[in-house]
Amino acid sequence: MPGCLCGCAPELGRRGFFAAAVAAAAFPARGFSAEPAPAADPVLIDDIVTANHILYDQGVVDGFGHISARHDKDPSRYLLSRSMAPALVTEADVMEFDLDSNAIDPRGRTPYLERFIHGEIYKLRPDVMAIVHSHSPAVLPFADTGVPLLPMNHIAGFLGAGPPVFEIRTVAGDASDMLVRNNDIGKALAKTLGPHPVALMRGHGSVAAAQSVKHVVFRAVYTEVNARTEGEALKIGKPTFLNEKEAAAAAKTNDGLVGRPWELWKQRVMSK
Ligand code: MN
Repeated sequence: MPGCLCGCAPELGRRGFFAAAVAAAAFPARGFSAEPAPAADPVLIDDIVTANHILYDQGVVDGFGHISARHDKDPSRYLLSRSMAPALVTEADVMEFDLDSNAIDPRGRTPYLERFIHGEIYKLRPDVMAIVHSHSPAVLPFADTGVPLLPMNHIAGFLGAGPPVFEIRTVAGDASDMLVRNNDIGKALAKTLGPHPVALMRGHGSVAAAQSVKHVVFRAVYTEVNARTEGEALKIGKPTFLNEKEAAAAAKTNDGLVGRPWELWKQRVMSK
């Protein structure tokens, strides 16, 4: 079976995805008593802080939403801010978690209720190094109506044949508060995401995953931009979307160009 033609993890076809998922299960999950891992690269921490600020500046997150990165020295851990508005995050707010989303050294800091999104995706997707969860507003109509979110132009080629939609009722029943507040719900979301770069969450928002902080910020921003553009297009007619081959080719090209908007967005937030 050939690899997916959409913006899925490029090196993972369906078979590769499941093999990788099995490999991920072999990552040892560390508990509270584990020896401290070597400190994460300060450049990575700085990128996480910058990404928080960019995602707010670009209208992807508001008081809610978060971005994480896998620990660069220990793949069984990830880095995520304490529970706070992303625009206000500083280096001291970035906490370390194991893949069951236990805080390694909380020091009184309160973690996000929905950190399980991150831990469970990192478990299932060894290729994923960074994750954004948001409630970005233009995406919600596509999460809630069943109208597919499809690439309007080459920049959003990573959307491929359209993100899957996570239905929380399948795992949490019909009276949940919609939050991914435990590992079971996180695992179900990760399964829905599968090899895709983005999943929508009905009644909630979306999640984007990628091979780096810069790539995941690119995907989160352009998922929102594409949703806005598609919403406009649907008002005036029937858009012709990129087909899967076009989307895959465009996604491959764009993966080499994510540094360009990152530098622009970074300069904007640093000059404020
Ligand atoms: Mn949320």
